[in-house]
Amino acid sequence: NRAIVCIVGRPNVGKSTLFNKIVGKRIAITEDTPGVTRDRIYAEGEWLGKYFTVIDTGGLEPENEEIIMSNIKRQAEMAVDTADVILFVVDGLAGLTSTDREIGNMLRKSGKKVIVACNKIDTPKTPDEIYEFYELGLGEPIVISGEQGLGIGDLLDEIIESF
Ligand code: GDP
Ligand code: MG
Repeated sequence: NRAIVCIVGRPNVGKSTLFNKIVGKRIAITEDTPGVTRDRIYAEGEWLGKYFTVIDTGGLEPENEEIIMSNIKRQAEMAVDTADVILFVVDGLAGLTSTDREIGNMLRKSGKKVIVACNKIDTPKTPDEIYEFYELGLGEPIVISGEQGLGIGDLLDEIIESF
């Protein structure tokens, strides 16, 4: 069976941008897209001849703070239940937040393979700020820019290594 990679993280950290980068095409989610649920979208990814299914969680992100928290938790649970590898995206510009810590705790307890992708680092030099993400206790964050396409190869290497 094809490995499943689930992308999780707070709204606006860049999950969908990274998803589009990994699957190599732009998939837009709109309210009335057929076959697309409100909170997740699937596509096939490939790297070095290995195929896998990528799931972008989040979908149409609500504005309301409470709904956002409950959705994030539900999505993290869904990822824990279905994923072989969980791609936990954090915002390297915003820094570590309490919500990141909550998600990180859930994921860590699950015992699933988790890769932390520290996104929005748009320049080749890694800023010192990213080291705070080690506090998540999920290993070394992989520094990427989904928008600029930086670090994506290293990230995909790490993903396929785990299945
Ligand atoms: P999602 O809500 O987690 O799916 O995040 P999106 O992919 O929709 O991106 C949220 C915002 O962050 C958008 O304005 C993106 O253009 C921006 N963004 C995504 N990736 C990057 C990145 O690598 N660098 C920067 N500077 N902005 C990014
Ligand atoms: Mg999104």
